[in-house]
Amino acid sequence: MNFNIYRFNPEKDSVPYTQRLELPETKITAGMMLLDALKLLKQQDPSLTFRSSCQEGVCGSDGMNVNGENKLACITPLAELGETISLRPLPGLPVIRDLVVDMGQFYQHYDQVDPYLQTSELDLSVEHLQTPMERAKIDGHYECILCGCCTTSCPSFWWNPDKFAGPAALLAANRFIIDSRDIQTKQRVKKLDDPYTTFRCRNIQNCTASCPKGLDPSKAISQIKHKILESH
Ligand code: SF4
Ligand code: SF4
Repeated sequence: MNFNIYRFNPEKDSVPYTQRLELPETKITAGMMLLDALKLLKQQDPSLTFRSSCQEGVCGSDGMNVNGENKLACITPLAELGETISLRPLPGLPVIRDLVVDMGQFYQHYDQVDPYLQTSELDLSVEHLQTPMERAKIDGHYECILCGCCTTSCPSFWWNPDKFAGPAALLAANRFIIDSRDIQTKQRVKKLDDPYTTFRCRNIQNCTASCPKGLDPSKAISQIKHKILESH
């Protein structure tokens, strides 16, 4: 199996290049994931750099562009990828080294939507109760692992990374807009109401197609757009 891997070490490379590495068939086992293969390739070339942590699709740290699609390496079966595999860093974010990108801009957008519950009183002696139906509304939102696969597959984000919040941040925003316990709904919606933060989304739905957790950020963005329009 052959790998074409984007390599760039700013400390010694003036431009990025593609490295071709081969993984012998004898090393490939049934059920192997892409991350397992990367670890074997790193034995061949210890300078190969990528992130990983939990290795089971929960921490979201090993997002990368695989044969043109954003995926998590740890839950992507090698068997589904063909004989030659192209690996690149997530698009649209600055490359720190090889397959590692700087997620600073991504987290900044997340931070700007105030991704935490805001209630009237900070009274830790009472529970903020919900009915089962109210609780069910946040299904499809809270499961986000902030891997960035959605936001970095979005053309609107590529063009306006500083102004368009991107699908992950907007999914988080909607998670609290629709939470029955949150009292800042109006302010949250108002904060998202400008030509760029939300409305740069053109409903292309790359985000939904690329989410490794099967979430639907584009649907959440449509809900926010409706809420904004209702508020006018
Ligand atoms: S639906 Fe919106 S957020 Fe998702 S990829 Fe398209 S433009 Fe980007
Ligand atoms: S919505 Fe999906 S793709 Fe986007 S950051 Fe969350 S888990 Fe990753």
